[in-house]
Amino acid sequence: MVVEQEMASIYPPEAEDLSSYLPEIDCGACGFGSCVEFAEAVLTQKLAPHNCPELPADLANVMASIVKMNKDPIPYNIMMEQTDCRLIEIGSPGADDPLLITCNFRGTVHIIQTIFEQTASHAFLLPIFTHGYSVDNAVAERLFKAIDVWKSMQENAVEMKISRPTLIIPGLAESQKNAIRQLTRWEVVVGPVSGFLLPLFVMKNKMESLS
Ligand code: SF4
Repeated sequence: MVVEQEMASIYPPEAEDLSSYLPEIDCGACGFGSCVEFAEAVLTQKLAPHNCPELPADLANVMASIVKMNKDPIPYNIMMEQTDCRLIEIGSPGADDPLLITCNFRGTVHIIQTIFEQTASHAFLLPIFTHGYSVDNAVAERLFKAIDVWKSMQENAVEMKISRPTLIIPGLAESQKNAIRQLTRWEVVVGPVSGFLLPLFVMKNKMESLS
């Protein structure tokens, strides 16, 4: 008897998600009636993001790298492999680069690192103890907890490296936002559900804070 391999989703972005990083003015200059339609063409690699004349080149470059990445689901049999809750520096982050919070499932940490490396983005990534559960499962099992965010931050002395007291939590962990803010006293920003969109999210936030 053939036993089918069960797979876990890694939340690849959909057209509506990607279009929120486009200008969202539906000007039609790309030949499509809306930014969402253009995003669909980008996701299916029919067109490069650079075909939107309104999109800043930096965002277009990151978007182009993201759509080319492998987004295959992860086999269940490698789920639950844990990684240390040590602060990871991806690229060469500066003191004003963001602190990203994630679970301590090795597969998730590896994917986020790969996404940032392949888009030449910089960030601090901090896994918290979730018993090796991925973010969705940890949230469902109530194992994505503010106390573990606080513990990882303390153990890694993040305030010594990061000047802006702002952290980004996964979109799937939004329910923990207030608890994390109250315990850490840091500003908590809810990131996208799809980790693939994190570099765009970080870059867009940075651009908005500078403008
Ligand atoms: S050119 Fe850009 S802003 Fe205009 S509709 Fe196309 S994607 Fe949207």
